[in-house]
Parts: sequence; structure tokens; C-alpha cells
Amino acid sequence: MINLILFGPPGSGKGTQASKLVEQYNLMHISTGDLFRYEMGNDTPLGKEAKSYISKGELVPDSVTIGMLKNKVNANPDVPGFIFDGFPRTVNQAEALDEFLGSKNEKVTALISLGVKDEELISRLLERGKTSGRADDSDESIIKNRLEVYKSETTPVFDYYNEKMMARKVDGHGTIAQIFTRLCHVIDEVAV
Ligand code: ADP
Repeated sequence: MINLILFGPPGSGKGTQASKLVEQYNLMHISTGDLFRYEMGNDTPLGKEAKSYISKGELVPDSVTIGMLKNKVNANPDVPGFIFDGFPRTVNQAEALDEFLGSKNEKVTALISLGVKDEELISRLLERGKTSGRADDSDESIIKNRLEVYKSETTPVFDYYNEKMMARKVDGHGTIAQIFTRLCHVIDEVAV
């Protein structure tokens, strides 16, 4: 089983690349952001709770996020592997993921981090906000808060897997096709 964490700041292209990678490697894409948006769209209790954090550019509490992720994995027992996009976003989530996969005799194959400079992230997110209908993409102060939260809460997840020699960096600048090629090279190395 291949279990990849596609990692990087908001706007680094994780969702775009994940949808290409699932076709190439026949994996299941789990985006916690997409799962929350689905719940918010249906105005479920989980969606309402998530919205109160997402609209401010804050993280949804780990207890909520981890449970939702586990349910999604458990609902898909027969897939050849997963691409986790937007999860784990805290070290606590990373530890929970490792423990959860371990309980199934599985493990994270690698974390692949897309690096993109801040100016480019802000302009990509504002551009996406014009068409995505996502309130968290339309306001520069919310975007900046998301980038701050990424730096303080989420970058330690890179260090956590890096210490285990499981983290790889990929340059996230360039065309979608160029970045996809770079990612495939890394995946072909780690997923043997
Ligand atoms: P982006 O990567 O562009 O920020 P996502 O769609 O991955 O977008 O996430 C949107 C929002 O959903 C995040 O800003 C956060 O509030 C919430 N969210 C997504 N994944 C997680 C997670 N693993 N833990 C906590 N909150 C999350």
C-alpha cells in the first residue's frame, strides 16, 4: 500500500497535483479541506462547527479532523493507497495518523512537500478566490492568517517526518505539468 502525504502551504497546488496523481498511481485522494467543504455545503453539524474556524483562517480542532479522516479511510478498505492532502496539519494529527495506520499494519510511505514562495501563494489564492466561491480565499488578511498558522502549526509536521527520513521537498514553482513530473520522479523513488 502507498500512503503519501502531499504537503505544503495553502495555494501550493496540492489539490491540483493530487487529482493528477490519483490517476497516475490509482490512489484515493483524501482532502480534509474538501471533506469540510462538503459538510459545510450540506450544513451538517460538523460543517457548522468547521465553518466557524475555516472562515477565520484557523485550523479545525484536531479531535474533529482526526475522527473525520479515520472515517474516510475506514470507509475505503479496498483501495491500493491514499494521497493525504491537507492532513496532517499538526504534529498531533501526524502522530494520530501514524498510530492509526500502524493499527492496520500500514504506514506513511513518504511526505512530499511543495515549496512555493509567499508572494506567489497570496496571488494564487486571491486569484482562486475570484472563482472558487471560497470566502477564505477572498480576503487577504484571512489568507495571511492561514499562512501564519501554516508556519507555526504545520511546518513542524515536515520536521517530524524529516527526522524519520521520510520527508522530501519538491519545487512548487513552474507549470502544472513540470511540477507533476517532479512529483512523479520522487514518488517513483519512494514507492518501490
Ligand atoms: P488550503 O490548503 O488552500 O488552505 P484546504 O482546502 O486544505 O485549503 O483547507 C481549508 C481549511 O480547512 C483550512 O484553512 C482549515 O481551516 C481547514 N482544514 C483543512 N484540513 C485541516 C486539518 N488537517 N486540520 C485542521 N483544519 C483543517
